[in-house]
Amino acid sequence: MHFTDTVYRNPYWPTFPLLQITQGCTHNVCKFCTMYRNVDFRMQPMEWIEEDLQELAESVPDAKTIQLLSANPLALSYEKLVPILEMINRYLPEMEYIYAATRVTDITNKTVEQLRHLKALGLREISLGVESGDDWTLDRVNKGYHAKDILEQCHKLEEAGIDYWMTFLNGVAGKEHSLEHAVNSAKIFSQCKPMIVGTGGLTLFPGTPLLEEAQRGEFTPLSEKEMLIELKTFVENLTCDCGFITHHTISGKNLTGPGFLGRKDKIIAALDNEIRHGNMDIMAAIRKGKQTL
Ligand code: SF4
Repeated sequence: MHFTDTVYRNPYWPTFPLLQITQGCTHNVCKFCTMYRNVDFRMQPMEWIEEDLQELAESVPDAKTIQLLSANPLALSYEKLVPILEMINRYLPEMEYIYAATRVTDITNKTVEQLRHLKALGLREISLGVESGDDWTLDRVNKGYHAKDILEQCHKLEEAGIDYWMTFLNGVAGKEHSLEHAVNSAKIFSQCKPMIVGTGGLTLFPGTPLLEEAQRGEFTPLSEKEMLIELKTFVENLTCDCGFITHHTISGKNLTGPGFLGRKDKIIAALDNEIRHGNMDIMAAIRKGKQTL
């Protein structure tokens, strides 16, 4: 298999088989991310993609799922994606579910009709690294789009019938804008119909511009307790019925699951409990030990 750079795959989707169709990230300037900093974006050569599919056709001929890699494979145009999806179906004829993580902006250059066709070819579920629905925050960390773009592109996915996840990055606005980040993100997410809302907590990794800004005093990270308070505010304001997943260091197991609205009060109570009684030193130590996003 031709895996050429950091392999990020969604651990909640089947993690095998994987198929890399692009390298790097088209955007590559989010201030909290260094995952693909030294990798230029490009499509994998079609010969490599075909060789990988030949290999998979031998090892897992009845595969029903596959995750496309790398950071944002749907950045490829519709015209480039169609032959790749057709080839997947040719080599793996039982294929039912093609998954991909991608950027909000990758949907922009595809019509609803084109998205419907991609779905018919197996593209069923995508994960959007939205991070915030607050324009100030999106600009602050260089996400490269605004709230109105999130709404437009998510509504296109809904029309096309492609299920999607939205992620909220807890802590990414720093102390300066924490409340607005939580409230405005929840407002925008609530106007969409995500299958899953996933939340992760900001970790300032070495080499990220945001860490450098924090060291210069230009960005003030939240404490662990403030992260929990922000997450609770986001949850209180979120009104879309969806699955809810959090990577929060301590509470993850209690908070993750389907049927968000039916569990919302319990999630808020669990967060309250963490805010009052959680061991913030342990949470900080776990975060310090993290190596990647
Ligand atoms: S967070 Fe995602 S979109 Fe931003 S630079 Fe990293 S991989 Fe690219």
